[in-house]
Amino acid sequence: MVKTKDVPLNFLPAHTLNSLLKKKQVCAGDIAKSVTDAIQKVEPAIHAFLRYDAGHILKQAAEIDKYISSGGPIKDFTGIPVAVKDNICTLGVTTTCASKILSNYIPVYDATVIRRLKLQDYILTGKANMDEFAMGSSNENSFFGPVKNPWDISRVPGGSSGGPAAAVAAGLSICSIGSDTGGSIRQPASLCGVVGLKPTYGLVSRYGLIAFASSLDQIGPFTHDVEDSARLLNVISGWDENDSTSISSIKNGQIDYTGFLKDDIKGMRIGVPKELMVNEIDPQVKAAVQKALKLAEVAGAIIEETSLPSLEYALSVYYIIAPSEASSNLSRFDGVRYGRRSMDAQTLRQMYKKSRSEGFGPEVKRRIMIGTYSLSAGYYDAYYEKAQKVRTLINNDFAKAFAKYDVLISPTSPTTAFKIGEKIDDPLQMYLSDICTIPVNLAGLPAISIPAGLSKSSGENPPLPIGLHIIANTLREDNVFRAAYTLEKALGFDKHPMYLYEQS
Ligand code: GLN
Repeated sequence: MVKTKDVPLNFLPAHTLNSLLKKKQVCAGDIAKSVTDAIQKVEPAIHAFLRYDAGHILKQAAEIDKYISSGGPIKDFTGIPVAVKDNICTLGVTTTCASKILSNYIPVYDATVIRRLKLQDYILTGKANMDEFAMGSSNENSFFGPVKNPWDISRVPGGSSGGPAAAVAAGLSICSIGSDTGGSIRQPASLCGVVGLKPTYGLVSRYGLIAFASSLDQIGPFTHDVEDSARLLNVISGWDENDSTSISSIKNGQIDYTGFLKDDIKGMRIGVPKELMVNEIDPQVKAAVQKALKLAEVAGAIIEETSLPSLEYALSVYYIIAPSEASSNLSRFDGVRYGRRSMDAQTLRQMYKKSRSEGFGPEVKRRIMIGTYSLSAGYYDAYYEKAQKVRTLINNDFAKAFAKYDVLISPTSPTTAFKIGEKIDDPLQMYLSDICTIPVNLAGLPAISIPAGLSKSSGENPPLPIGLHIIANTLREDNVFRAAYTLEKALGFDKHPMYLYEQS
């Protein structure tokens, strides 16, 4: 394994690899080899991928090296292995949403984010495991089996982007791309000790992202550090004519997000919403967040506790709106247009019914039933319409807060990674995992999770990553990156689950 300063290549951020490539100290083949060796050794224990092809990764790298030596340009993600969540369409590469119903679906087009990554000559590491249709907080809802947390394989990596998060944390991919509807990038990033960004709603095109809840879904990057997060956002963000909800005033490449990576938060106003520091927060998580806030204060930021009273209702609102949109979006999976069809039906109705009953897992069915119920005549006013009204109150509370503060800070997840199986039979307990992240999607805001440290080990509990959640106003990614970059430097987190490689 090629190593630089004792950190193997597969644990280095893309910007470091990019400068090594430019200085000709490594070639794309070296990077690809370090990643495929890692996958061979560690992936069987983690199950971060639903699909990868080591031969193809190495072949792509060899072609890129040839292109570079013939004078081809080295762009920010040239030769960089990026894993892609399996709900993002990749031309010719099976895309299942971790569902039985899409187990044979091969997209005939690339999602916009993939098209943009291809222009960089990136390398697709593989299609990453996830909760079925991105519904879940632990990755236990994948039809193909759970992902294990690289820090302790008896624990969950978080969800629904558990595969993309675990792949980066375990050194199986340099970066990855996931989706966040209620926390699915930030919560697994927090539980796996990597950086996860949910951009402003509409900043990254959703074209080619298989829809869960269209008014909440957003694609974003998982990376080793904040600089890579900004660089990857540079590549994937900007208006797309194929997504009518993408923000038309910002063109791809128009904003250089690395320009906001300033180690300086002097005078920055930080609010700490007391509704996100609730009793459910584990004391060690709370202590890590408080330590980060102290560091922010030392760096010259002004910290105040604040209140956004309507956040108390965010979880309830989300679990009406997200299932409602899902019940509508998932009606397209009927055994006719996409994916798997039940073959033993006698009538058309039976074919729909059997294809859907056999094809969807229990959590997806639960969401479709909740959503259909809250959208049905007679209940619409009491549930869906009421939830939309409360959503407006949540937006208003954020607008008021951002008149006073540049960013809001909270824990990303109330707890560190929990045991596989611990919450699977208690959906309400599971839903609480996203209590801090969900309000952000309801309001369409940008937010990031950065590693804030490790919990203390005690008894059978090993040290586990804790995430710090930084939220800013709409399109104020500048504030997200400035705060995240400064606090990342102050916190100095540089740990990886290297023990995975020490076992034979
Ligand atoms: N865990 C939340 C849910 O189950 C959020 C999922 C997501 O962001 N995709 O809906």
